[in-house]
Amino acid sequence: MTTQFGPSYVRAIAPYVAGKPISEVAREFGLDEARIVKLASNENPLGMPESAQRAIAQAASELGRYPDSNAFELKAALAARYDVPPEWITLGNGSNDILEMAAHAFVERGQSIVYSQYSFAVYALATQGLGARHLVTPAVRYGHDLDAMLAAIADDTRLIFVANPNNPTGTFIDGAALEAFIARVPRHIAVVLDEAYTEYLAADKRYDSIAWVRRYPNLLVSRTFSKAYGLAGLRIGFAIAQPELTDLLNRLRQPFNVNTLAQAAAVAALGDTAFLEKSAALNAEGYRTLTAAFERMCLEYVPSDGNFVLVRMGTDDQAGDRVNLALLKQGVIVRPVGGYGLPQWLRVTIGLPEENAAFLAALERALA
Ligand SMILES: *Cc1c(COP(=O)(O)O)cnc(C)c1O
Repeated sequence: MTTQFGPSYVRAIAPYVAGKPISEVAREFGLDEARIVKLASNENPLGMPESAQRAIAQAASELGRYPDSNAFELKAALAARYDVPPEWITLGNGSNDILEMAAHAFVERGQSIVYSQYSFAVYALATQGLGARHLVTPAVRYGHDLDAMLAAIADDTRLIFVANPNNPTGTFIDGAALEAFIARVPRHIAVVLDEAYTEYLAADKRYDSIAWVRRYPNLLVSRTFSKAYGLAGLRIGFAIAQPELTDLLNRLRQPFNVNTLAQAAAVAALGDTAFLEKSAALNAEGYRTLTAAFERMCLEYVPSDGNFVLVRMGTDDQAGDRVNLALLKQGVIVRPVGGYGLPQWLRVTIGLPEENAAFLAALERALA
């Protein structure tokens, strides 16, 4: 008799597939690491801001001690920036940590979680990880169908995940529609609004979700330093919510979940508005370049408000993998999204101008 360890709902999980690291592609395809272009994980192509690098160098001497568990300095900076009490803030080891904590804090095994088809993979993983029920609503034009999500709410629903903009599709829900949705969610159900790409939004699309946190005690807004702030490797994100939700997260949070370097770098990056502006401008320019090229090449794409674009490689279910392989052989790493149920598509992160050009040249050859 074979012994099966672990609960069946854990065994049923398909592990998260991350974007391939540069070193792995270099080994696999016999390529020079320096010539590889990675546009696979929605990282900031400018890398880490210099302000954060300096903060890290200074903080390095403190690494013999544990981090500040309460992250006094960073919470004070965030509280001032968003005009909320520090007690409303929870820090995470990446916002991924926040999403996991939220699922475990708000939902019991067997209860249900609502999220949309083609939304961020971590919602499904977090749901499965605690043996909760998935209520997945069909996407509309690759984005969230908020009415369907409201209609899907069951008696045992305790959490709704909404990504805005969404990853991997880049779709965006405007602020008015989103607030109307939150207002209609029953107060005993937590809404986790995952805004990993909010810093990239054009001025006319911005909305003030922190004002909604003051209005709705069941709303938690999740943000990250991994994307526009350029700190993906440090792992740091944060949540803003009223004390009812925040207190629950704090019971589950690992005491030292955010390391010393990440805290120091985040304080510096938060104050570095010049870097954020430069990142957003570069992204907007790259978006125009990529989408203009896709139109020239007659490739369907989903209009995106993030730092990436979902683009269709063909009408057969091998198209994504086929083109992906042809790109890898040329040293260009993008993200296949078959795991999201989008096997005909690839997701490409918007890079530096020269990286976008290298990707487009490789794509032309791959499709020729
Ligand atoms: C990248 C991403 C995150 C998580 O990023 P962290 O690095 O864990 O902060 C969360 N949500 C969405 C939608 C993302 O794309």
